[in-house]
Amino acid sequence: MTIDQLRELVRTIPNYPKPGIQFRDVTTLLLHQQGLSETVERLAVSVADKPDLIAAIEARGFVVGAALAVRLGCGLLLIRKDGKLPGETIAEDYALEYGKDRLAMHIDACTIGQRVLIVDDLLATGGTALAAARLVRRVGGVITGARFVIDLPELGGGKALRADGIEVAALME
Ligand code: IMP
Repeated sequence: MTIDQLRELVRTIPNYPKPGIQFRDVTTLLLHQQGLSETVERLAVSVADKPDLIAAIEARGFVVGAALAVRLGCGLLLIRKDGKLPGETIAEDYALEYGKDRLAMHIDACTIGQRVLIVDDLLATGGTALAAARLVRRVGGVITGARFVIDLPELGGGKALRADGIEVAALME
């Protein structure tokens, strides 16, 4: 499949979750057997050196991140919305367009020096991925990069992550 064919499998929902927002919906890409496997394969070949862990961000990042972890042969670290993990956690706030939110991870999910690749479905401002990176770094993990299915470059997330020393790639803009 070409990138254009993959792009056509992403549905755009106007005015969701708020008026004026064009929501890029990857659930239609996930429904497509070849689209899903091609997405995972293309992400896998974009990763030059295998990390120890994939840090997948709730919720759509879990889907892509888990598949990529199996394909690459590494473990899966779940970054969740605060209040959902059962063990001892650390948390980081991040800014949303209106207001803020908080991500959390188990404090023992990653050990010092482990190499961690961040994965999510979509990169917009980068606030979510940067909060995930802060969590991993707080426990001594090393961020080796970040991968997304979709990048919205006009929102500056790629720039923000690179400014923080994070290598970034996405399958489509
Ligand atoms: P950021 O923190 O501004 O980079 O926003 C990225 C986060 O918001 C990711 O976890 C995405 O899943 C979610 N997100 C923002 N916009 C969209 C969209 O259009 N489609 C799907 N997810 C989105």
